[in-house]
Amino acid sequence: MSDFKKNLLIGDVQTFSIVDFPSHIAAVAFLQGCPWRCPFCYNKGLQSLEQVPDPQWTFEKFFKFIERRKGFLDAVVFSGGEPLVQDGLFDAIQKVKELGYIIGLHTGGYRPDALKKVLPLLDWIGLDIKGPKKKYKILTGGFDAYGNVQKSLQILVDCGTKFECRTTCDPRTLNIEDLFEIGHFLKQMNVKEYYLQKYRPVEGDTITTDSACEELISDDRLLSFLSQSFEKFDIRR
Ligand code: SF4
Repeated sequence: MSDFKKNLLIGDVQTFSIVDFPSHIAAVAFLQGCPWRCPFCYNKGLQSLEQVPDPQWTFEKFFKFIERRKGFLDAVVFSGGEPLVQDGLFDAIQKVKELGYIIGLHTGGYRPDALKKVLPLLDWIGLDIKGPKKKYKILTGGFDAYGNVQKSLQILVDCGTKFECRTTCDPRTLNIEDLFEIGHFLKQMNVKEYYLQKYRPVEGDTITTDSACEELISDDRLLSFLSQSFEKFDIRR
């Protein structure tokens, strides 16, 4: 267990969630660290790859917590930050799985090789699609990330494990044409589940109005196209 303490940095924990793993009651470990800088990031405190001083959660503490909650919770989700940056993830998931939990992962598809490694241990994956190819650099804060995201998506499409794709619809950076483009791409990739997530202005964004956020996810043509393109499609407000 001492290796986990050293190798898995936990920024925060949601001890009870019914929205982070479809149809399951989960505890969520938000792992520290993300190399990207998305303009709509809700978890800026998790971006640093350094452990915060005096952390509230260690892996040992989290592990003891989920050991006690077995029977009440049935799933554990590893989220972030970007959980695939942490090399201790595979061992940590394995340890949690031994308790009998089903495992979910939230990722932006940052490291396809790391995804491939943990995939046999996963029961469900939520993959963020930030935007269309031409905007990925802006949407990840200047990183050439699209190739890795595409590889990660292909891995998920090929693997047979359940997964969803979702896009946070920030009207500062995305428009309806972009959402059509993402939809066409995901449909062509044979994705079955896709969700649009309403953007809620992050700290420091004093410009974006609720009606602008709503407008972007309410276009009738777009919604009809997306509904017809995927087995499951919905809007998350
Ligand atoms: S990938 Fe997620 S955690 Fe990383 S900067 Fe973007 S929104 Fe924030």
